[in-house]
Order: sequence, then structure tokens, then C-alpha cells
Amino acid sequence: MSLQLPSDLATRPTPFYLYDLGLLRQTLQAAQRAAESRNIQVHYALKANTNDPVLQLMREHGFGADCVSGNEVQRALEAGFAPDHVVFAGVGKSDAEINRALAADIWCFNVESGPELEVLSELAGALGKKARVALRLNPNVDARTHHYITTGLKANKFGIGMAELPGVVDMLATLPHVELVGLHVHIGSQITDISVFETLCHRVNELQQWFEHRGIVLPHLNVGGGLGVNYEQPDEQLIPDFEAYFSTIDQYLRRRPEQQVHVELGRALVAQCGTLVSRVLYVKESQQTRFAILDAGMTELIRPALYQSYHRIENLTSQGEEQLYDVVGPICESSDSFGRRIALPETRRGDVVVLRTAGAYGEVMASNYNLRDKAPAVYV
Ligand SMILES: *Cc1c(COP(=O)(O)O)cnc(C)c1O
Repeated sequence: MSLQLPSDLATRPTPFYLYDLGLLRQTLQAAQRAAESRNIQVHYALKANTNDPVLQLMREHGFGADCVSGNEVQRALEAGFAPDHVVFAGVGKSDAEINRALAADIWCFNVESGPELEVLSELAGALGKKARVALRLNPNVDARTHHYITTGLKANKFGIGMAELPGVVDMLATLPHVELVGLHVHIGSQITDISVFETLCHRVNELQQWFEHRGIVLPHLNVGGGLGVNYEQPDEQLIPDFEAYFSTIDQYLRRRPEQQVHVELGRALVAQCGTLVSRVLYVKESQQTRFAILDAGMTELIRPALYQSYHRIENLTSQGEEQLYDVVGPICESSDSFGRRIALPETRRGDVVVLRTAGAYGEVMASNYNLRDKAPAVYV
């Protein structure tokens, strides 16, 4: 399968985000088949991409919504997700955000600390409600990914630490307006080693036993998201190996009869369907380096500058002989670079250059730094 391009590419201004909705459909079908056959519920992590066509397809495929801000909760509800399929996570929920989610009767708050639990109970009480909560635990499992996208180690700000857990569970018994419905863990993103999920399941099994020893039954277990994608060679794996992922969870998570199992995938569902399309503004040669300067930069795709991550770069125009380029954007920051010494066919001003695998954490992280215009989304 090759990149689907808009028919009017020659005259279309760049940069823009290109989304292949056919590929997205196939990806969601593959995920849904693998999850459904194991009776696992998928909640889409909205933060990866909140564009309406994307949200509509998520909803049509039966996914719920995993939100990390009040506005994301709002967006999910506006996109038609049923409130009882909406989850609200995040380490710093404001009172206003909590109140909005309570008013909407969302299904569950993933609570990340004792103080948050107290505030939630108080706010729910004031509205005459009882909030369903899952405790987000920090299981201290290494996701073996970039340190900026690791979330499940002791040193990270996310989740309730093991040392704090007994205190939080005691507190639960004293709070009248919250009801414990489950356990939540999420240890990081872009996890490509499936054995990490096996380790995580073993940890969750231990945690579940810890609760059961205290006579606490958990109606659901949420093992988070984090399944990675192939950024180096996207065409070799446009659709992630959902079978391997869900079968690992199915095999190693010791689920109790009637217990629901949830996952929250973001990147794995939407990364490959998106491409950032740009044109070369200038080729600038210095003694050491040949720069290809694009009209897209870190304002459209910040992951390389933020996490030192790599997106595959392709020149769609040229078939010339390969040369090495430092591929950079136009923004006034040295970190505004998409890659050094990248082999591209001989590149000229006006060539169309794409950055692949940009559907997740691309457009949602766009900024207007340097007063840049917002790049539009184009769907094929
Ligand atoms: C970001 C996030 C996810 C999704 O992560 P992906 O790596 O995109 O799958 C899931 N759950 C929580 C709590 C998150 O913060």
C-alpha cells in the first residue's frame, strides 16, 4: 500500500496534515476485532488526535473516550460518545473540570492522588452525586521507551505510589461521595517490546491480590495504552500488531469472572494514518552540511524537537541520486530539525517532502510560535 495523496496536490499550499481515512478504518477494524474477541473494551486516548472525522470513526467502531482535560471530555461528548463510555484521567484536574465531568455523568474518574480523591468526593457531594473512580497506580514498571514518555516509574509524577496506596485505600472508606470501580495503570508510550505488557499484567495481578486481601473487589481493570508503532519503516507495518498486544493481555492478566478489562490506545490507532506534507523552500549548502529547509517545522510536528524522535522523511518529487541532508524547519530554534544526515534523492526548491507517521501527537501539539498559521487538515 502506498501513500494516498490528494488529487490537487500540485496546486495545494503547504504545509498541511494529510489523513488517510481508509487506512484509519482498516486500523480500527483490526483493533476492534482483536479486542472484541477477547472481550476487552478500548477507550481511545483523545489527546493523540481530536479531529472530528477521527473521533467519528472511533465512535462508529465502538470505542469509548479516554480524556485528560475538561475540554477533551467536552469534545468527546460533542462528538457523540456516550457519557458512560467516557473516562477522565490526568494528574492535575481543576475543580471546574471535575465539576463539568460530574455534571455530564461520565463513567469514571481515574484518580491520581489522595488529595484529588478528597476534592472529588467533596465536589461530587456538593452536586448530590457519587463519582465512580479508578485508582491510577504507579506500578514502577519500566516501559523501556524514551524517558520523556515513560510514566510508570517511581520518579514520574503520574499515579499513586505503592507507599501511598494503603493510606489512599483507607481514605476511600471515609469518603461518602466516591465509589471505587477499578484499577488503572499506564506506564508510558511508544512501547514496542510486547514483553513489557506481560510484565505489566503480572504487576496488575499482584495489585489485584493486594486489594482482594483487603476484601475489595474491583469491577474493572484498566491497563492503559502505550502500544507503539513503526516510525522507521511505516510501510512495513501500517497496522500495528493488535493480535499480539491483546493476546498478551488476555493471556497474562488474571481477570476475575464478570470483570471488565479496558485499554486506552492513542498512538497505535492514529499515528500511521497521518502525514505532514511540506515543500522545500531552500537547499542551503555550507562547508559541512547541506540543509533542506522545509516550509513545515516544529510548530506543525514537535516530536523530533521535544523527544528526539524520528519521523520517516520522503521526497515525493525527486528521483535523483541520493545525497545526505539535514532536514530542518523555518522556525527560529536550532532544535527545529527533523533529522540530520538523511539520505534523500537530490532535493530542490519546490519538492514535496513528507514526514510520515504524524497522525498521533502531531496536529494536537501544533503551536503558533513565530505567529505561524495553523496548518489545515486534508482527508483522503
Ligand atoms: C496518553 C495516554 C494514553 C495513550 O497513550 P498512547 O501511547 O498514545 O497509546 C493512555 N492513557 C493515559 C492515561 C494517557 O495519558
